[in-house]
Amino acid sequence: MPPRGCLWLVCIVLLTAPWTHASAEGQSSEQYCPMIPALEADGERANASVAWQVGLGPRLPGSDASAALLDGFEENHSAWSFTRDTHTYGEGTLTNLVAVYPPNTDLATTDALGLGAHYDSREFADFEENATNASLPVPGANDGGSGVGAVGELMRIIPSMDLDHAVVVVLFDAEDQGTYTNKESWAEGSRRWADNLSEGEVSHLKAFILLDMIGDAYLNLANISSNNQTLNDAIGPLAQALGLIEGRTACSGVEVRDIYQPGTTLDIMDDHVRLNNVGVPAIDLIDHRYGPNATGFSNSYWHTLEDTPDKVSAEALETVMHLVELGMRSGAWMEAVAPVETVKEPAAVEPQGLSFAGPLGLLLLGWAFVIGLVSVSIASILALRRLRPPAASTTWSWDEA
Ligand SMILES: [Zn+2]
Repeated sequence: MPPRGCLWLVCIVLLTAPWTHASAEGQSSEQYCPMIPALEADGERANASVAWQVGLGPRLPGSDASAALLDGFEENHSAWSFTRDTHTYGEGTLTNLVAVYPPNTDLATTDALGLGAHYDSREFADFEENATNASLPVPGANDGGSGVGAVGELMRIIPSMDLDHAVVVVLFDAEDQGTYTNKESWAEGSRRWADNLSEGEVSHLKAFILLDMIGDAYLNLANISSNNQTLNDAIGPLAQALGLIEGRTACSGVEVRDIYQPGTTLDIMDDHVRLNNVGVPAIDLIDHRYGPNATGFSNSYWHTLEDTPDKVSAEALETVMHLVELGMRSGAWMEAVAPVETVKEPAAVEPQGLSFAGPLGLLLLGWAFVIGLVSVSIASILALRRLRPPAASTTWSWDEA
């Protein structure tokens, strides 16, 4: 008989193996592979929205172009319910557009994912070297238009996603009218919206994904230091599955591109900061290195007259939308910061049928081994007792057998 300690070691290894396997599987990008064929956000549609927005003219807070954008956006998404969140701003007003699906969901009592983008365009192209050009408004194809185009396209397909939570989309006003020497002068519309969320709305808004400047044909995404770091951690496995991280294995058949650099972290002020400030976990997906030679905001089309629709690509828009869509369909965004209860109800497993090939099979094997071992041990003890010579005082003898 092997030493008892050795057997226990075998049992422990067998029993823990299924959990080890399940844990590794949970962190893998492979879990997302089966969902990739279902992704349907269309880059061409989002790109068409960019051209439409720029065609409206500069979307300055309180302008007719801004009003036309919000009116057209509402008309295009009749499955959603809308409210307008208006605040005084300088001499005029700013307006955030808030869309909810399912329509009229009470955000104070219902778990929701947030998607957002700023829709205003900057009043002055002050990164132009020529003073005359610097006094003109930015066309805002990428800086404004791309995020709105992407969330609009995602809104088109969200009703068919059959999500088990609500979605709130916010088009923020007055993000891009700040001064470079005052960080707090940016993201004014989002600050007003976030600061007016009720306690219930904050607690039920589980994650917020902000899209800004995501249409650059030379797309580069990185971590943003002001992102909620736990939510930010969900980006890597999704990006890897989609083949967006150089040097990492993507889902089979996907050509890897160097789009998301997980080792790079940048410091960006944007609307997501206002959400994080009030306790809503938020991240910014943004490519501030806008253009073929950009190394940062400098040497880029950012806040210049060059921010035009021809610099925005449908492929880039689709890449980022698919990253967001994959996180939505898989539940990765919603579960990143506030995990769903780890003890799952049996009903959640049964519809898929019991499979003995995966972790469950290993677990059952482990338990079967333990039960078998205990049975063999009991049988051995009983047999040994029967083989033991009779004590002098007993009346038991071989003859009785
Ligand atoms: Zn801007």
